[in-house]
Amino acid sequence: MRYEVAVIGAGPAGSFAAEKLSSLGHKIIIIDPRDKKKVCAGILTAQYARKYEIDDAYVERELKGVRLSFRDIRAEITYKESVEYSIDRGAFDSFNLDEAVNSGAELRKDMALLLEENGTSLAIRTTKEQIAADYVIVASGMSDLSRLYGGAKKYAYCVQQKKNVEPDDYFEMNLMQGGYSWSVPKKNHVLTGTSSSNGYPDIPGEKCLIPLEPAKKTFSNRFLLAGDAAGFVSPFEGEGIFYARRSGEIAAEVLSGAISGNNALRSYEKRWKKDFDFSTLARLSRFLSNDMVLEAFVREIRDNERFNKLVEDILTKKNKFQIKDISSLIKTLV
Ligand SMILES: Cc1cc2nc3c(=O)[nH]c(=O)nc-3n(C[C@H](O)[C@H](O)[C@H](O)COP(=O)(O)OP(=O)(O)OC[C@H]3O[C@@H](n4cnc5c(N)ncnc54)[C@H](O)[C@@H]3O)c2cc1C
Repeated sequence: MRYEVAVIGAGPAGSFAAEKLSSLGHKIIIIDPRDKKKVCAGILTAQYARKYEIDDAYVERELKGVRLSFRDIRAEITYKESVEYSIDRGAFDSFNLDEAVNSGAELRKDMALLLEENGTSLAIRTTKEQIAADYVIVASGMSDLSRLYGGAKKYAYCVQQKKNVEPDDYFEMNLMQGGYSWSVPKKNHVLTGTSSSNGYPDIPGEKCLIPLEPAKKTFSNRFLLAGDAAGFVSPFEGEGIFYARRSGEIAAEVLSGAISGNNALRSYEKRWKKDFDFSTLARLSRFLSNDMVLEAFVREIRDNERFNKLVEDILTKKNKFQIKDISSLIKTLV
């Protein structure tokens, strides 16, 4: 059996890519061992909620806003409308994979080990068999396989744990140089975590990597990298689910075009670069990586109504993101 596309990984990048390709009528296989739940804070951001439908099957809470702190300075932003959701990440991934399978994609619970190019197709070696496909989408997150095929090279280290404390409806973020820690309310508990670019924080919990910048090249003759495998996460707030889903969809459209002979795989990079503004997000993240700026940032959110509203608009994606608004205001303060 030869497939038109094999999708490796059934996180949001892989499941949405497989669903899109199957609904366009292509013969698809999706390969994932499905033996681990993704370590994730599980926030669907405003960027996601404004573009895609949200299903009650995985929503745990609608978030009312965010609390930010830097040392002993604390600020709160309350959103005017509900646009962010705290989700059960395991339920979200199962829901999306079911949608892909219902639209016709075949699921193989297995681990891909190697891709071998042989002229007009690719052979995917797994722990149990060899699968032939015309094209592959590598959507295997921050895995050895993704790294082997040119995936994200720069990443931060995260540790997250469940705390049995009473949740409310606010996402909390404690900013610090070189990382941040968070607290996310779930239905009956809270998830707390810390991220650092200098190795795993020395605290108990589940460990996981999060990419910091896109891979140098996200296409080859026969495969595309999508989601975390391609390094598509906002360095500003650690948002990756939106970028995983959207890049999976773009990869599916590009491969569908390639199968019909209408476009080359290199058009994938032009497409995602048009949609994702990682360079602006990286500039903002660099700008906020200084103690004096961080202090002014949180203090102004606390004390300056106009600034509080500006950051709310950025977080809730009300207006087009303008780094100059935030940086010019802070520059006058520090
Ligand atoms: C601690 C933490 C908190 C986060 N919180 C948020 C948040 O609140 N909101 C947000 O938007 N983003 C968040 N992110 C980022 C987000 O989780 C990722 O960007 C997103 O999951 C990427 O989706 P993906 O489909 O690319 O990869 P993944 O979700 O990692 O899925 C990859 C899949 O590939 C499979 N796989 C791996 N290797 C192989 C192989 N060899 N063969 C077959 N299958 C394989 C895995 O089993 C997995 O199912 C967080 C990340 C971390 C680390």
